[in-house]
Amino acid sequence: MTWLDLPDNSLFGLHNLPYGVFSRDGGAPRVGVAVGDQVLDLSAVAASLGAPFAAVVAGPVLNPLLAAGRPVWRQVRATLGEWLTDPGAAESVRPHLYPRGDVRLHLPVEVGDYVDFYASEHHASNVGRMFRPDSAPLTPNWKHLPIGYHGRSGSVVVSGTPVVRPCGQRKGPGDAVPVFGPSVRMDIEAEVGFLVGAGSELGSPVPAKAFPEHVFGVFLLNDWSARDLQAWEYVPLGPFLGKSFATSISPWIVPLDALEAARIAPGAQDPEPLEYLRDAEGWGLDLALEVRLNGHVVARPPYSAMYWTPAQMLAHMTVNGASVRPGDIYGSGTVSGPEPDQRGSLLELCWGGAEPFALPDGGTRTFLEDGDEVTLSATAPGPDGTRIGFGEVTGRIAPARG
Ligand code: CA
Repeated sequence: MTWLDLPDNSLFGLHNLPYGVFSRDGGAPRVGVAVGDQVLDLSAVAASLGAPFAAVVAGPVLNPLLAAGRPVWRQVRATLGEWLTDPGAAESVRPHLYPRGDVRLHLPVEVGDYVDFYASEHHASNVGRMFRPDSAPLTPNWKHLPIGYHGRSGSVVVSGTPVVRPCGQRKGPGDAVPVFGPSVRMDIEAEVGFLVGAGSELGSPVPAKAFPEHVFGVFLLNDWSARDLQAWEYVPLGPFLGKSFATSISPWIVPLDALEAARIAPGAQDPEPLEYLRDAEGWGLDLALEVRLNGHVVARPPYSAMYWTPAQMLAHMTVNGASVRPGDIYGSGTVSGPEPDQRGSLLELCWGGAEPFALPDGGTRTFLEDGDEVTLSATAPGPDGTRIGFGEVTGRIAPARG
């Protein structure tokens, strides 16, 4: 029970309590927690009530809280639960609640390194069929390791930031030489992101079982992709300018501790991965994603269908001794399910441009046009039949700048 006036079906109920950074009336960004349709100024409450963790939530980003480690994360979450349920705390806490509609949300974290994986077998197979029709859909390494690349953390932006159509080189099948200009195959990738909290020591791998000690929470990520730039540049070193112009993330970080009821056994892996990639704890997650284009749902990708788990991704990313730091993020790769309406990229939804899909307004799309707005959202099971929300990450395509 809570003294807050919270509807039972709120996606931001007491079982969720995601963290973000907000500002009011042009003031300084502050650490907050979403509850119902309000945001709690965590920094102000912690300071006024003399909470022992007040110092790590006093800054303009989540990084000090991330660095504090799992015992502190649990302490903060337990304290939040007490504040929001104890009627005796209501008088102290209530003045620090603001309508979420009245605040501005910021990038919640100073992003360190950014790695993006490719962990959906359905997505990787679809891409393989399109681009390598004469070969097996999956590359020979795909089921032996979670494939990834290092992205550009400096262009990670918060939901709502306009995405300027990138310019670059492309060379179509009929072109004798490459041409330069605005991308004509602008796409999205609906992904789930993982935020690293506690860091690791350089030289020491992080085992899969240590995933909950190092990963603080989960969010949504749109890996905007210029397919024409990507197709020309990616051989042999992988994604570069076709991806690095912008990556949008959702403003609320759902703590791992809020996702206990969303955990499911991951699907079978055949062949069995090498010892260091075995995820005995089984970090499958039952997140239901939704992709909307200009308000219309175009796909519902199920995260439950992913092949590699986030614990396996973390183990692989550090097995060579590379360290992680508070504020590092990694993406799952495009989430696609087995069905055509579960595909998390337009590339797959329009099958490389060959099959334009219909929109309810009578129009059709292959890739994104200027002014198009894409929104990703997700929910997950909470305890006792409740649902937990991730909010959304949205972005609108702005015309190229020459
Ligand atoms: Ca991606």
